[in-house]
Amino acid sequence: MYFENSCIFAEFPLDPCDYLRGDEKALEELKSNVDSRLILFSKGEALMKSVGEIYYSTVTASNEMIFLGKDKSHAYFAATAGENYVLPEKSEFIDLRTIARAASNDGFSSGPSLLARGKMLLDWHARHKFCANCGAESVSQKGGYVRYCAKCDTEHFPRIDPVVIMMITHGEKCLLGRSPHFRAGAYSALAGFMEPGETIEEACRREVLEEAGITVGEVKYIKSQPWPFPSSLMIGVIGEALSDQINIENDELEDAQWFTKAEIAAVIKSGGDENFCVPEKLAIARHILDHWLSR
Ligand SMILES: [Zn+2]
Repeated sequence: MYFENSCIFAEFPLDPCDYLRGDEKALEELKSNVDSRLILFSKGEALMKSVGEIYYSTVTASNEMIFLGKDKSHAYFAATAGENYVLPEKSEFIDLRTIARAASNDGFSSGPSLLARGKMLLDWHARHKFCANCGAESVSQKGGYVRYCAKCDTEHFPRIDPVVIMMITHGEKCLLGRSPHFRAGAYSALAGFMEPGETIEEACRREVLEEAGITVGEVKYIKSQPWPFPSSLMIGVIGEALSDQINIENDELEDAQWFTKAEIAAVIKSGGDENFCVPEKLAIARHILDHWLSR
């Protein structure tokens, strides 16, 4: 049963070798090693042989690279392809949602986790070229896990934006909502970015009250999922509603409804349609739904 497994984008498959990140000499040696592998990205998409197979390029000195880590046979780096990059034969850039969807439909693969880390770090570098403290240009250090500003002697670290995603239950019913941008008929767990100074439980209660007008009591953590669009951590919880009166007074949701376990089980079995469908397996929302159905 896959709901007992990790979500897609989890289970990083390499030893991240933190001890090598500060060792410039060792990193340079790995970059010149013919067995080292480079994963290329362009506009957030990864270079692939097929949707399930990464195209590994040769590491060259000209690439500004992220050091991802090692397995028994290879060291792995990630870099952005140059503007004039010529696609090798039998390769294509594929977006990570498509790759993750294919992997999750087959069960589980840790391949998307390797790609997610590369994309998240490259996205961070692309958006943080200048020091947030003094505005001077910063440089990548420690294999891409730090940007350093020499002007004000400040280190900046990759940012991760935590999002709480919550299945709210009331007795044998669960609350799902739909945003205006969802595909037709799609309903999912409510979610929102955590605010500074909040606990996960507080963020869950605040979001549900803001979006659906429902007060939530106990909140229990279920599982989490890295989400590389661009760099979130989805924190999956189940919260118990203290009442079932829905009150939508904002523009984040266009609808929210209570669904029974029988209704959810039926739509998962049928696959759903434009009148009602639930998230696919690549989303943590589906894992939380399955967890709730199974208990
Ligand atoms: Zn600075």
